[in-house]
Amino acid sequence: MRTKIAATDSIKKPRVNVITLGCSKNVYDSEVLMGQLKGNQMDVVHEADKVSKDDIIVINTCGFIDNAKQESIDTILQYSELKDQGKVGKVIVTGCLSERYKPELQAEITNVDAYFGTNDLQNILSSIGADYKYELIGERLLTTPSHFAYFKIAEGCNRPCSFCAIPLMRGKHASKSIEDLVKEAKGLVRNGTKELILIAQDLTYYGLDLYGKRRLDDLLRNLSDVNGVEWIRLQYAYPSGFPMEILDVMNERDNICKYLDMPLQHISDNMLKSMRRGITKQKTTELVQEIRNKVPDIALRTTLICGYPGETEQDFHEMADWVEETKFDRLGCFTYSHEEKTHAHTLIDDVPQEVKEQRVEDIMEIQQAISFDKNQEKVGKTFKVLIDKKEGDYFVGRTEFDSPEVDNEVLLHASTNYATTGSFVSAKIERAEDFDLYGQIVK
Ligand code: SF4
Repeated sequence: MRTKIAATDSIKKPRVNVITLGCSKNVYDSEVLMGQLKGNQMDVVHEADKVSKDDIIVINTCGFIDNAKQESIDTILQYSELKDQGKVGKVIVTGCLSERYKPELQAEITNVDAYFGTNDLQNILSSIGADYKYELIGERLLTTPSHFAYFKIAEGCNRPCSFCAIPLMRGKHASKSIEDLVKEAKGLVRNGTKELILIAQDLTYYGLDLYGKRRLDDLLRNLSDVNGVEWIRLQYAYPSGFPMEILDVMNERDNICKYLDMPLQHISDNMLKSMRRGITKQKTTELVQEIRNKVPDIALRTTLICGYPGETEQDFHEMADWVEETKFDRLGCFTYSHEEKTHAHTLIDDVPQEVKEQRVEDIMEIQQAISFDKNQEKVGKTFKVLIDKKEGDYFVGRTEFDSPEVDNEVLLHASTNYATTGSFVSAKIERAEDFDLYGQIVK
């Protein structure tokens, strides 16, 4: 006797097209959602160009700062118009923008089928007619090339940074257990992942909530012990209370990249105090030096904000001089965004937009010259390179000192080199530019 279930199975389920905006943490969340949908035998794709009239579009939005919010709103409008034209079936919105502005979005863009927050996976699944599969916890469908994966070790943040809306959207810090993370890492390695990029809002807070003490060093040792993990990369470290013990593990273990991303946001004490960063210029400078003393060849990445309320010419020049002196290996810089419900929103956003943008440009010009000089030092040296893709005439990869999408790349011309995506090669650097290195594969 054919059961009813059999009947439903034959009904073709609509395809789900997931669109991810924002940061690597959103990429992770989209991948978890896609893993669950696949577990429900649903046809799921990521950012497919071509849409079809029955498609269910799930937009995972970003609500961090102005530009990102605008991009999320434009994307929602784009797909809700396609829905009006009958070119897609359903439009579902989730992620940080929806978490932060659900009532406003519901009032403004009414033809969206449903709005969900950042912690609504089960509700999203049931709105699509899918069940939450507990047996799939820790599994996901990667949207990155399978050889590297973003690896979220915690959610939320307990820090009081005055300019930041993330705690409003992601809640309090919640670490995942070491056991669950090791299980997740083993699952990824089984599917071909070699590089784990550890992410959180505040990586260095790991364990304080769950174990009552910082345990990032223990987590690193456990992940480093997982057979097949070739590279472990650390992103989003917080400076104050920095757990120096993780650098011992970095020195101990070859498969932990000598790379650290630590957003510092500013350096003038006036700004650091108003930003509620809990650290001073002197402490920051000492920390950077201590890290470099402990791991001499570490690549340090940081992120800075220009145009925070009250930032004077003097504050800015203090930061520009410090960037010149400190010579970070990698640096990103953003204009301050005046975000509602943050502490900084009680201040006057007094730095004109064009001044904010000019200050970012000035900092990035300094960094471009620093990056060029540092890259010249790599000419003639041989590095382990992970091949990410073939692009035009080049195989494109990264050294352990580079994170995907944001840092330098190694370009190996296809006329004299051959490599497969996801493989490691040894490459000798022959030429270097501001942000790119050119080399040859050596045996
Ligand atoms: S640590 Fe990062 S995520 Fe947390 S409040 Fe500060 S800037 Fe925001």
